[in-house]
Amino acid sequence: MKIEEMIAAKRADCSGCEACANICPKKAITMTRDAEGFAYPKIDPELCIRCGKCDATCPALNFKAKTVDALPATFTAIYDNDKVLRRSSSGGVFTALSEIILSEGGIVFGAGYDKNWHAVHTSAKNLDELENLRGSKYVQSKIGDVYRQVKSALKSTKVLFTGTPCQCAALKHFLGGDPENLLTVEIVCHGVPSPKLWESYIDAVGYAHEITYVTFRSKRNGWGGRGLSFIDINFSDKERILSANSANPYGKLFLRNVTLRPSCSSCKFRYPNTQSDLSLGDAWGIPDFAPEMFDTRGVSVVFIHTDKGRNFFERMNLKTKPVRFADAVRNNKLFIMPTVADSRRKKFFAELAKSDDWLAVLQKYFAQDETEFRKESGKKTGTIFSKNLQAILEPIRQKFPKKFLVVSSTRDRAAQESLVNFFKQKIKKSALYFLLPKEGGKFICREDFSGANFAFKDLDALNDFVKRFGITKVRVEKDLNFGDNTAAVTEWLKTCGLPTKLFVQKN
Ligand SMILES: Cc1cc2nc3c(=O)[nH]c(=O)nc-3n(C[C@H](O)[C@H](O)[C@H](O)COP(=O)(O)OP(=O)(O)OC[C@H]3O[C@@H](n4cnc5c(N)ncnc54)[C@H](O)[C@@H]3O)c2cc1C
Ligand code: SF4
Ligand code: SF4
Ligand code: SF4
Repeated sequence: MKIEEMIAAKRADCSGCEACANICPKKAITMTRDAEGFAYPKIDPELCIRCGKCDATCPALNFKAKTVDALPATFTAIYDNDKVLRRSSSGGVFTALSEIILSEGGIVFGAGYDKNWHAVHTSAKNLDELENLRGSKYVQSKIGDVYRQVKSALKSTKVLFTGTPCQCAALKHFLGGDPENLLTVEIVCHGVPSPKLWESYIDAVGYAHEITYVTFRSKRNGWGGRGLSFIDINFSDKERILSANSANPYGKLFLRNVTLRPSCSSCKFRYPNTQSDLSLGDAWGIPDFAPEMFDTRGVSVVFIHTDKGRNFFERMNLKTKPVRFADAVRNNKLFIMPTVADSRRKKFFAELAKSDDWLAVLQKYFAQDETEFRKESGKKTGTIFSKNLQAILEPIRQKFPKKFLVVSSTRDRAAQESLVNFFKQKIKKSALYFLLPKEGGKFICREDFSGANFAFKDLDALNDFVKRFGITKVRVEKDLNFGDNTAAVTEWLKTCGLPTKLFVQKN
């Protein structure tokens, strides 16, 4: 298939990454906005020499799915610097990385604003220029000729390229390899709204004022760790828009997946198909899985995919804590699955295309009752997430020769952690599953290497789990107490047919 055929038949496959426009030797490709305001390639037949370079470079046309045999090392991390954290969306890891590259005379590429507050990819050669790249811009950034600039810079210096996963993949396809002096870092990507929508929004709210500052991730109210974020737009006459993104028309319809690019709901470049050295995101849900790292100034989650990425991660001056993969992605599901588009998306963009007052259309959808849409997309998201997580974990599980079920009534979080460490030291090269009592008389089984949780309503479900996961041995805490279920669990242990031993945890 060729690019033009893909755009005609499977338009949603095109992420607008601009690799084709950058590779074309005749500058025959221009990125042209459609009625929704997203850019797609358009080939000028007069200029095109039919060399095929664009088709051979397109990451969508040349996509090959990956499987992994180990999970990425996963960390929560904070760059402990008040000024940096205030200006960064999460824990400031992007700045910590950039400082290393800049101090070695390198160049950093990433998404900044132009003078009209439109999002554009650009470069920074020093800390002053880095300021513009800091912070998330919730809109698709224009790449322009940045992949060409990266190629040229790589001839003489180190380069850090940052962007969405599809932009990082595009750069790799454009370069046709992975030069040693290039570090690619992607953001965990919710998806990107239409640039024309953002530009119309700021034109409308900025009418008769001059915009002096924009951030989609203000920390004036701190960083709550649970996904709440704030937009802040300042004007020269001291007027200001400061609100939760969920209470702002532009922010809410972004978060609700109404305004995203079509490719974002079939995104090909999420884990395990990432082509970057590191992925950076918000450590959402951190109060639940690493409370000791929670910091109201912001905390990052970092996934390490390559040795190069690990090397840089270890050189940064960060406060870090390793965490389990599934704990980190449970509250950040989009790391492993595409965004589920809101079912109003098509209607919304059709109305925009007919309207010359885009703010009015935004406000109309902003005011709608979303209960049903939330339920619908929440259910789909839950199902796709579980399916994708299991598909990633299954080949890794197969590699463990033995699988132990540890049955314990330990309820306190810290005591559970010490139980896990006790078993990790005793039993090596095995997958450990911890069966623990859950509120309401149910059971929960936790897979240690991933952090995945499986909830059971009864012991029949546990039987199925034991068979499905190929559990080979059982260890049972002495004086087990599962409340009303104690007798049933004890009976199950006698009849499960697996070699069972008692244990007492020694500190
Ligand atoms: C559109 C978008 C959606 C996101 N969705 C999620 C999500 O669902 N879950 C999650 O955990 N994190 C998400 N993030 C990432 C998160 O908001 C932070 O950007 C990330 O954690 C890095 O934060 P930091 O504190 O290290 O550095 P910061 O200084 O905050 O990060 C700046 C970095 O973000 C890049 N960047 C900013 N805007 C864009 C853009 N429009 N396109 C490409 N790159 C951009 C810059 O190039 C730079 O590398 C998203 C970011 C964006 C831009
Ligand atoms: S075929 Fe070659 S010349 Fe034609 S648009 Fe593609 S890259 Fe450009
Ligand atoms: S290279 Fe990128 S912009 Fe060009 S057609 Fe492929 S996906 Fe679309
Ligand atoms: S969701 Fe996927 S296609 Fe959309 S911007 Fe992010 S990486 Fe690109």
